Amino acid sequence: MLIFKRVKDLQKHLKAAKKQGVKTGFVPTMGALHAGHISLISASKRRCKLTVCSIFVNPTQFNDPNDFDKYPVTISNDIEMLSDAGCDVLFLPSVKEIYPNGLEQKKPINFGFIANILEGAFRPGHFNGMAQVVTRLLKIVNPDLLFMGQKDYQQQLIVGVLIKKLHLNTALVMCPTTREKDGLAMSSRNMRLDAVSRKTAVQISKTLNLAQRLLQNPKNEIASIQQKCFQKLLETPGIEPEYFEIRNAKTLEIPKRKTEKLVALTAVKLGGVRLIDNLLM
Ligand code: AMP
Repeated sequence: MLIFKRVKDLQKHLKAAKKQGVKTGFVPTMGALHAGHISLISASKRRCKLTVCSIFVNPTQFNDPNDFDKYPVTISNDIEMLSDAGCDVLFLPSVKEIYPNGLEQKKPINFGFIANILEGAFRPGHFNGMAQVVTRLLKIVNPDLLFMGQKDYQQQLIVGVLIKKLHLNTALVMCPTTREKDGLAMSSRNMRLDAVSRKTAVQISKTLNLAQRLLQNPKNEIASIQQKCFQKLLETPGIEPEYFEIRNAKTLEIPKRKTEKLVALTAVKLGGVRLIDNLLM
């Protein structure tokens, strides 16, 4: 695996590949890699001849400086995992490389409703920072395919909008969420959970599954299912739920009927760690 720290060195390599018509897949990450990230690398390898991964803990998408400071960094382990997975190129830029003109964004894209609700409401500025770094990375790498996880459902919807708005030549591929054996969605943040919180964390996916079961009963209304699931999380010792919402899977609007394609999304705080998960239903 080749490792590039500079934009110009990476681009030189990618330009040569592009000239030969090599299909390029791209997996942007913030490191502290786990099997979920590796599933994206594998998906890219199945469809592309050249797979590029980036590791960059993006300062502009952390609305909570404490969260940024505590974000796990496990770079030598990440390099080993990527190399074992057969990743071709790792881009490991500094903040200066990504933001040569400073962290401030000149003209943030206005995504409207889809970025103002759920994660957007609880983490003000988060999606602006995410869109800022994804735009920069996509312009640097210019991949044919971009692989992102369903785990960050709202994020990948917004990136879909971003690609359209900027008329980029990249197609977005959403990959399913990789879970631990007990159902907990894999996340770099899970390593910050203590033993008790780790056990409690299983309630997140259990509650999403409960919502799916309740939805199958024609007597249950969406609003009451949401309420019940939020209440269940609230009553679980150690869990502080932020939201539990069932939304239209394409638009994230409040659904009018159960026949729409739906997604349940939740965010909770647990032992000082913020976790999100979702389930398509
Ligand atoms: P992150 O490093 O958390 O920014 O994630 C980088 C990419 O990996 C994003 O597209 C995430 O949605 C994806 N990802 C994170 N966790 C998982 C998971 N458990 N399963 C599949 N993809 C994931």
